[in-house]
Amino acid sequence: MLVMATTCHKHKPKSSIFVSSLTLLQRYKFFLSFVAVLFSAYLYSTIRFELREGGKMSDIQAESHEELTPPLSLSPPASSSQVTVTENIDNTRQDSTEDLPPPSSPPPPPPPSPPHSSPPLSPSASAPAPAVAPLRYQAQETVTFNLTETCLLFLHRGDITKWFVDGQSDAIVNAANKRLLGGGGVDGAIHNAAGPDLLQACKEIPEIHPGIRCPVGSARITRGFQLPVSHIIHTVGPMYDLEEDPESKLSDAYRSSLDLAKENEVKYIAFPAISCGIYGYPYEEAAEVSLTTVRDSANDLKEVHFVLFEAPAWKAWVEEANELFEQT
Ligand code: ADP
Repeated sequence: MLVMATTCHKHKPKSSIFVSSLTLLQRYKFFLSFVAVLFSAYLYSTIRFELREGGKMSDIQAESHEELTPPLSLSPPASSSQVTVTENIDNTRQDSTEDLPPPSSPPPPPPPSPPHSSPPLSPSASAPAPAVAPLRYQAQETVTFNLTETCLLFLHRGDITKWFVDGQSDAIVNAANKRLLGGGGVDGAIHNAAGPDLLQACKEIPEIHPGIRCPVGSARITRGFQLPVSHIIHTVGPMYDLEEDPESKLSDAYRSSLDLAKENEVKYIAFPAISCGIYGYPYEEAAEVSLTTVRDSANDLKEVHFVLFEAPAWKAWVEEANELFEQT
């Protein structure tokens, strides 16, 4: 406008030009004010945009955010109003970081708790107790007697493949068959637990007749292999219904086993109920024969054990032992 005014009146004297300009300004003052307001608004928005692009606005926002966020602390907040503020800010943070790639390095571990800070609240929070291996075989039930003046008698209800004392001078007795190549019952359980090396060792025992490595009433010895015990003594009991004198043959089987134990410096020995399974020997009769035989042939063994798998066998041996010996 001013340019137009000056152009229109460029041939007039200077004083009259000035008066004309003032008149024009007076006439269009509202319009000029409006233009000035528009121009100011434009300037303000431009400056604000440039500040934001330069990162200054984000810095300012971050500073104000830090002021609102309380420092990380294990102590509870001072007031409920602070809790509200923190929760809101945390929600905002979570939303804004959802699309971000995962951080390249894991977050730092939590600081270690001070030693002896507080007692454990539950058994699961406490340090595990050191595992203490049982010193000896743990049976379901055990009763102990004085077999002789120097030898103890243990009756156990359990599995003979788990039995051991020291793994050096101990032996379990296997109720085997004459071929010594494994079979059912306690024989099969012992071969399974001892592993295939036991069968190989049995095969290396020489046959005294074709197919017979151990006749009825005799005994042979091998290592224990994968069993916890050091030796296995293999003996063959009588078939109750087929043997002419089953009692003497059963007594022979126990005595042969005890003699072989002594020859091999075995101090601890455990028997099953020989012949009381497939070979059909009655438990009560077998209990009497076995207990009187081991009493008379214990030699310098420290302990004689019976590991009885079935309840009727356990009952028969305990009753017979209570008649013959004193419990410790
Ligand atoms: P046998 O042929 O001399 O009769 P068996 O093996 O058939 O021998 O049975 C002898 C006894 O051993 C039976 O009373 C049987 O219950 C018992 N027995 C079987 N398995 C085990 C085991 N793992 N530990 C102890 N005794 C067992």
